[in-house]
Amino acid sequence: MQHISKQLSKEGKKLGFVPTMGALHSGHISLIEKSIRLADITVVSIFVNPTQFAPHEDFSLYPRPIEDDLEKCKQSGVDIVFLPERSDIYPEGSGIMVDVGEIGLILEGITRPHFFNGVATVVSKLFNIVLPDFAVFGQKDLQQSVIIQRLIREYKYGIKLIVAPIIRESNGLAMSSRNVYLNTEQKEEAGVLFQSIQKGIKAVQGGITDRKIINAHVIEHIRKNSNLKIDYVQTLSVEDLSSPDHFLPGEKVAIVIAAFSGKTRLIDNSITIIPNGYNDTLEDEYNGNFKELEL
Ligand code: AMP
Repeated sequence: MQHISKQLSKEGKKLGFVPTMGALHSGHISLIEKSIRLADITVVSIFVNPTQFAPHEDFSLYPRPIEDDLEKCKQSGVDIVFLPERSDIYPEGSGIMVDVGEIGLILEGITRPHFFNGVATVVSKLFNIVLPDFAVFGQKDLQQSVIIQRLIREYKYGIKLIVAPIIRESNGLAMSSRNVYLNTEQKEEAGVLFQSIQKGIKAVQGGITDRKIINAHVIEHIRKNSNLKIDYVQTLSVEDLSSPDHFLPGEKVAIVIAAFSGKTRLIDNSITIIPNGYNDTLEDEYNGNFKELEL
C-alpha cells in the first residue's frame, strides 16, 4: 500500500483516505463520495481495530460483511480498498501506543478509557501506510474528529482533515454499523436521541447559554419519550471540548449524547452557534443539515 501511495504521489495524484471498520452504510458512503469528488485516487481502509475495544466490548461480534462492503466500494467508485490483516498493523511483539492524554478521558473516554488511544494508534499507523493528502472522517464521532485533528497537528502529518455531516435514517437516528443490533421498535425509539438534541439546540437558539439548563432540556425529552438509558448528555465547546458553565455569543457548541438501547450503545451530536441576540438565519443550520465542520 505504501509503495503504491508513493508511486501515485510521484505521479502528482491527490490521495483521499476514508478509514472505516467496515459494515458500510450510507454514512460511510457519503464520506467516500466526498473523497471521490475531491481526490484523484480514493483509498478506503476496512479494519476492525482490536486496540479500541475493551475486553467486554463487541470486538468478536462486530459485523464483518466483507463481500457486501467490497461491492459497495466498487459501486461507489473507490480506487483502492486497503484490507490489512491484524498482523500487518500489530505484528507479534508490537506494543507502542499513541497516548492522546486528557482529551481521551472525557465523554466517550469515561466509560471507554483506552478507546481513543486505540483509535489514535491505528489511525496513526494507517496514515503512515496510506500517506494521504487528506482524510475524511464523520462528525458522527465528534470527539474522535477533534482528537484526530490534534494528532495531525501534533505529529506533523501534514494531512488535511475533512469532517463530513452525519447521515441519518428518516426518523433522525444517526446511521451506524451497530444499528444492526437494534430491532424495529428499538430503531423507532432511538429517533428520540436526535429529537432531544434538537430540543437542546432550540433552547440555545432561544437564548439559553447555561450549560446545565441546555443539558436538562435534552435529558427531559429523552426521559419523557423513551426508555433509553442515558450514558451522558453534554454541551461543549467544539474547539476544545471544554464544558464551561456558560457559553459566549458566537461560540460554536455541540450537544453530544451517548445512550443505551438495551445493550446497544448509541452516540449522536449536533452543532450550533450561540446567537448574538436573536438570529433567525441559523434556523436552517439546526435542522440537521450541517455544512462541513471546520475544526
Ligand atoms: P466506523 O466504521 O464506525 O469506524 O466509521 C468510519 C467513519 O465513518 C468515521 O469517520 C465515522 O465518523 C463515519 N461515520 C459513521 N457513521 C456515520 C454517519 N451516520 N454519518 C456520517 N459519517 C459516519
